[in-house]
Amino acid sequence: MSSSLKDRVRRIYPDVPIDENSLDVFVGLVEIQEDIASKLSGKYSDLDREKVREVLSQGKPVLSVMELRIDDDDFASAVKRIAGYLREELADAREGLSKVIEAQESGQLNLSELKGAFMRGDVEAVHEAASRVGVDHEMLEAVVAWAVQPFFQAFSESVGSAVGFEGWESGRCPVCGSFTRVEVVQPDGTSLLRCQFCGAEWKYPEGKCPYCGNSDKSTLMVLGLEEDKRFGVGICRLCGNYWKIVDEGVAGTDVPRRFYDIWTLKIDLLLTGGRKG
Ligand SMILES: [Zn+2]
Ligand SMILES: [Zn+2]
Repeated sequence: MSSSLKDRVRRIYPDVPIDENSLDVFVGLVEIQEDIASKLSGKYSDLDREKVREVLSQGKPVLSVMELRIDDDDFASAVKRIAGYLREELADAREGLSKVIEAQESGQLNLSELKGAFMRGDVEAVHEAASRVGVDHEMLEAVVAWAVQPFFQAFSESVGSAVGFEGWESGRCPVCGSFTRVEVVQPDGTSLLRCQFCGAEWKYPEGKCPYCGNSDKSTLMVLGLEEDKRFGVGICRLCGNYWKIVDEGVAGTDVPRRFYDIWTLKIDLLLTGGRKG
């Protein structure tokens, strides 16, 4: 595996209040995901561009109308890689992850069903699958989420390069519909939002809440962090949400944007007091 991603990401470690080993595991996971996604990129090249354009022009995220195709074999191999990697890296979860891998191999765990349940947001079905196999449901959910994400990323990449997001004005991701807390100010001064889940990036005005679209200065604050000009935060009093800003003019562009969310984790801790945002 190439060490270049790890080297590039290592420079954010001093800014992130997570121990080095855990960060290493995280970066390794992202490397695997990127490898999976890059091998899937051809799978979505037959995209119905007209349909995608039509959906976007109606202001709807592509995947709220179109279905993301995930091949069963591709998914099974993604689960195997993710679970196999984590089993090696996380001593605490080794036993559970072994069970997941064994259940997958014996067919006790129906990945096709599990994938469907996850995509529908059917939490019950994921819980049932976990208890059938005898593993913690949060761990199974995490493995499935990590394994599903590269399919979204590959699809999102295809949509971005085939159609683009010109004219998309929402703060929600034009592909998967997620909200994001990550704004990027590019070195040329223009702003964009980046979806933390599928990686889509689209232009979005500075000083506008990604959650509710509020841009009224009386209920919106955009602050720089005093000593650290690389990062900022927007706080919207209208909807109660906040988002994080990375100024690439100061922070540079060496760190892959995929890591901006974790790079700015301190802001989340500062604003939520450690609760999950
Ligand atoms: Zn997205
Ligand atoms: Zn708002």
